[in-house]
Amino acid sequence: MYLDRFRLDGRRALVTGGGQGIGLACCEALAEAGAAVILADRDADAIGAATEHLRRMGHAVEGVIMDVTDSRRVTAIADELGPIDVLVNNAGIARSETAAEDVSDEHWLNVLDVNLNGTFWCARAFGRHMLAAGTGAIVNVGSMSGFIVNRPQPQSYYNASKAAVHQLTRSLAAEWASRGVRVNAVAPTYIATPLNAFADKEGEMYRRWIDGTPQARLGTPDEVASVVLFLASDAASLMTGSIVLADGGYTCW
Ligand code: NDP
Repeated sequence: MYLDRFRLDGRRALVTGGGQGIGLACCEALAEAGAAVILADRDADAIGAATEHLRRMGHAVEGVIMDVTDSRRVTAIADELGPIDVLVNNAGIARSETAAEDVSDEHWLNVLDVNLNGTFWCARAFGRHMLAAGTGAIVNVGSMSGFIVNRPQPQSYYNASKAAVHQLTRSLAAEWASRGVRVNAVAPTYIATPLNAFADKEGEMYRRWIDGTPQARLGTPDEVASVVLFLASDAASLMTGSIVLADGGYTCW
């Protein structure tokens, strides 16, 4: 009875930024639970390699080119696909290590455009179909950076974008709860992906990340994907508007 509630057989799930890192792990987790997965990313080669990798594992997956900042294309794809059951808003960029006083307009707008606007365009476009169907689950990938200020690297724009994603999650959850659509978020610590490969593993910054984490390690993409799977599934049927930390204890200190 309990394990069955984690299954997604017969459901369709779309993951943005699914070509690598956390997004790719989410595709694998959702597919393993039985969902037919649509892997969306902005680069055709990355989509090809990722879908091939998942198919070799025996998973049902299709790829679609979708830049989440392109609101019109996002809406067109959502209308083309019709109702999907699970949307994972994972696409995000960090562009860390620029002091606030040196951030250009382009830098600020680019990070907010992908992380916040992209999340909203997708939630709105796919959410409309979920509302019409009276069912659906959206999982946004936020960050512990929406709760704390990372150190030592400056990244005001990223932290602000993720705090906004968390509040957007709660706002959509409240608006859509009575119409069958749940909206939650996962807020990870540092995860070993290309996004934070800028940190030298032998360097001071990396050491401070580890020292600041009670579990004394980075997380792995699958450790985020398992939380996403839970939130996407009926096992989390009472949850909406939750921001679930998966941070190795980082925010305890
Ligand atoms: P990666 O950089 O490894 O992967 C992100 C994926 O998203 C890439 O395939 C990237 O494509 C794609 N992407 C970027 N911009 C767009 C866009 N405009 N439209 C569609 N796809 C896009 O990142 P992670 O897997 O590490 O991060 C995934 C999510 O997790 C992000 O939202 C991030 O903020 C969040 N997160 C990550 C943490 C970490 O430490 N790694 C910690 C906390 C949260 P391309 O390669 O072409 O840029």
